[in-house]
Amino acid sequence: MRRACLLLDADDTLWENHAYFLRAIEAYLVLMEAHGHTRPIALEAFRAAERIRIPNHGYGSLGFAQSLIMAAQSLDGSERPRLEEEFLRLGQWIHDHPIELFEGVEATVAALAEHHALAIVTKGAPREQESKIRRSGLLRYVDRFRVLREKDRAAYDSLVAEWKLDPSTTWMVGNSPRSDMNPAKAAGLRTVYVPHRTLWEVEAETLEPLPDHILTAFGELRSLFLPTG
Ligand SMILES: [Mg+2]
Repeated sequence: MRRACLLLDADDTLWENHAYFLRAIEAYLVLMEAHGHTRPIALEAFRAAERIRIPNHGYGSLGFAQSLIMAAQSLDGSERPRLEEEFLRLGQWIHDHPIELFEGVEATVAALAEHHALAIVTKGAPREQESKIRRSGLLRYVDRFRVLREKDRAAYDSLVAEWKLDPSTTWMVGNSPRSDMNPAKAAGLRTVYVPHRTLWEVEAETLEPLPDHILTAFGELRSLFLPTG
């Protein structure tokens, strides 16, 4: 089998992530409901805050807490220190959450590393993402990692140039159509889509063109990239 380079997305591809944000958003909705704001209104206020904050300040759990604070202020029209403290606590809870690798990930990554070059390519708050990568225990199998500000076509082009990748043997493996599949395809890479059971709405996008492979679990990479028998 020809040696390939596999670029692995991290959040919701290797380990649980979106689930924590969903739990924190649920806690926010419950708190705002107690302050007299219906769930749809409170949810829209949060999304509006994210649309303003993310392009300027990027991703990450502590920034997420700031979006909750912005949203509450936009609804209540004033500061609520106890509420804000609670939102900061939710962000910190996500930030400090132990890494929960998906089933089969460590064994699969270990096996793939014997035949191919592996890299973790993620986006988000640099220090938070790097801490998660280190805490995952996967660095012993992976040649390198990169935390990108955005995963767009230009970012993939830069990575191909910097790491001297051969697009015909480089694969992006991930759960996000918008960040992992479409821009990697646009940069000439091959793609493997491993959808997670939930997708952050910001990452939703029509798959165009279709990925080279669509899997139901990370462990199925074995059948694509490991010699049989
Ligand atoms: Mg992901």
